[in-house]
Formats: sequence, C-alpha cells, structure tokens
Amino acid sequence: MEKAVHYVTVPEILEARDKIALWQEKLRQEYFGCCVVIFTMNIPGPEKTGQFIHIAFMEGYKAIGDILKQKDISVAFSLIQEECTGYVAFFALKEKAGIIKKYMADLEISHDLGRLFDIDILDKEGRTVSRQDFGYGIRKCILCGNDAKICGRSRAHEVAELKKRVNTIIINYLKNERVSVRSDLNAANRTTIYWI
Ligand SMILES: [Zn+2]
Repeated sequence: MEKAVHYVTVPEILEARDKIALWQEKLRQEYFGCCVVIFTMNIPGPEKTGQFIHIAFMEGYKAIGDILKQKDISVAFSLIQEECTGYVAFFALKEKAGIIKKYMADLEISHDLGRLFDIDILDKEGRTVSRQDFGYGIRKCILCGNDAKICGRSRAHEVAELKKRVNTIIINYLKNERVSVRSDLNAANRTTIYWI
C-alpha cells in the first residue's frame, strides 16, 4: 500500500533530531568502546519519505552491511527506524571510528546513490568524526557542485529543482540495477516500474 505523501513540519524535524541524539547516547553507553554510525538520506524539501527514497535508503543500508561483512567488522547492534521525517539506520561497531569513517566516506563517493547518503560516525566518546580529518573534501551540492552546506544554508536552489535532481539520481540508479530493485519492489508489494 502506498502511503499518502507526508510533508514534514519543523517540530517533527526537531523531535526527530532529539530522538537520534538520544539513540546515539544510548548506544554509546550500552555498547561502550564501539563507534556509532547513523545513516540517513540527504533529501531536500519537506517530503522525506516515499517509495523511491525508501528503495535508495535500503540500497545504502545493504551497501553498508556489505562493507562491514567484507572488512570483517563486528556489528554489536543495528536498527532501522522509519519515521515520517525520514529513514534512519543505527549501527554500533567494534572498530575504530576513523577506520569506519574512511570506509563510509569512500561509499558516499563511490556508490551511485552516495550523494544522497548521509553517514555520520561518532567515536566512543560521542564526538563526530569529520570528513576533513581524513583528507576528504566537503560534500558537494547535488545541483551545482559547490559546497553543499553553503547551498543549503543560503537556499541557493528551488526545492522543486532539488527534488527533481534527487529523483533523477534514484531513477538512473534503478535503471542500472534493475534486477535487485525488482526483487525489492516485489517484496514490498510495489509494482510501479514506469521506465520499462
Ligand atoms: Zn548548489
């Protein structure tokens, strides 16, 4: 069943941020010594959920899982939360935050949906590990390629324009990855594959 479109409100966003912060702290305490990963989607505008965004999120979640498996990193805890404010995955990992940051920054760069991924890493003290600490540049805006933070803060682009770009990134990915997406769509009883 396709849910009705939900436009997030500012109080909902603030509440969601508080909730994420609470989870971060809870995980840091319960899995002391682990680093905490918070994976969200970088979706501009008030529509943070929906079929395409969910598929893209799950692709990101799987890609993170694949890396952890490949690198033999022990996952102490993982959880997905689906809120009207967006999808969030939490991981507590038995590995140094700096090492995880490198893998995740590489994923954000190399994955075809990576520009839409927002993967934050907190060390065991709860401090955010920044991209720049590891020699990675700033995140680039999906439209103009400038510093994404500056474009975001100054509202440099129309929401409609950004939304269109997000959809294009996801649709292009789905076209290239047809097989895995089809099985996802079937699993979720979703059948709208309109580019065929
Ligand atoms: Zn821009």
